Amino acid sequence: FSTASGETVRATLFPGDGIGPEIAESVKQVFNVAGVPIEWEEHYVGTEVDPRTESFLTWESLESVRRNKVGLKGPMATPIGKGHRSLNLTLRKELGLYANVRPCNSLPGYKTRYDDVNLVTIRENTEGEYSGLEHQVVRGVVESLKIITRQASLRVAEYAFHYAKTNGRERVSAIHKANIMRKTDGLFLKCCREVAEKYPEIVYEEVIIDNCCMTLVKNPGLFDVLVMPNLYGDIISDLCAGLIGGLGLTPSCNIGEGGICLAEAVHGSAPDIAGKNLANPTALMLSAVMMLRHLQFNNQADRIHNAILQTISEGKFRTADLGGKASTSDFTKAVCDHI
Ligand code: NAD
Repeated sequence: FSTASGETVRATLFPGDGIGPEIAESVKQVFNVAGVPIEWEEHYVGTEVDPRTESFLTWESLESVRRNKVGLKGPMATPIGKGHRSLNLTLRKELGLYANVRPCNSLPGYKTRYDDVNLVTIRENTEGEYSGLEHQVVRGVVESLKIITRQASLRVAEYAFHYAKTNGRERVSAIHKANIMRKTDGLFLKCCREVAEKYPEIVYEEVIIDNCCMTLVKNPGLFDVLVMPNLYGDIISDLCAGLIGGLGLTPSCNIGEGGICLAEAVHGSAPDIAGKNLANPTALMLSAVMMLRHLQFNNQADRIHNAILQTISEGKFRTADLGGKASTSDFTKAVCDHI
């Protein structure tokens, strides 16, 4: 396949762990049918720690993303409490993936309690509690460092406002707990306010995270773009996934230094259903659509997006997480047929 100018774009693909390889295969099939001019460079998580990255991710795989500047990532399992760096944290740190963009939209034809969810969470991706800077002070006492910097906060706030402006959004809500975390979340808010002043056309508001959760569950239609520190983003975006039908449906894209775009589903490796042809590939397919839009392959992105929406809306082929009986491959075939 090639672009109008005859070029093929190289992109890195991490199939990942658990259900990752199954749903990555779905994306490859859909891309083939839609004639997407992408050649994948596939990289697998290693079986030993690479001393150059101090993780199971190889140096070569990171170099592949740095070179291609675009990629798609399946979920990667993080063994709890083992002595090496989390794979996802390694990727975020090494590739400077500073913002994680997670759109969340009600799907026409798939009924949940809400039919008006149309929001985007933008998560600071590099610091805060989520960095895992933890140590034992003495036996029985541990300490976790929550580092917030002006540089990272300004960068993600700038991205959120720029995203709002360029995507026809009207409001940015900064989510925080600055009434208690006065220094850290206080600095995050100060940076958001500074950036907000440069965007008078975008409405800016600040919402305390507990109130944000209550309002999201009561009336998610009130939110538009939400920007927040790392750990809050991790939690709130799963909450948002629950509003529209679950983790099988929500895509995301990591934005990194030097224009890197690494798309990935919000969900994890789902070990409970791995290898059974049961996973819903929608979230990874929609993440791949985000990657295509980043590359301005809008025609193919639209065709794939519409085919996914039609398949879910018709309801003939739905996976078990959406109450159906279809397998991963049945659903994938239905999307391919719609394309
Ligand atoms: P999970 O997202 O893997 O699963 C939570 C629940 O959602 C499970 O019941 C699972 O079956 C279901 N689910 C998730 N994705 C689905 C899909 N596409 N189709 C149908 N059902 C789906 O969360 P977890 O069980 O807490 O984590 C499992 C592993 O994944 C852990 O090692 C965790 O660290 C890792 N993880 C990785 C990422 C990532 O790579 N970005 C994100 C979250 C969790």
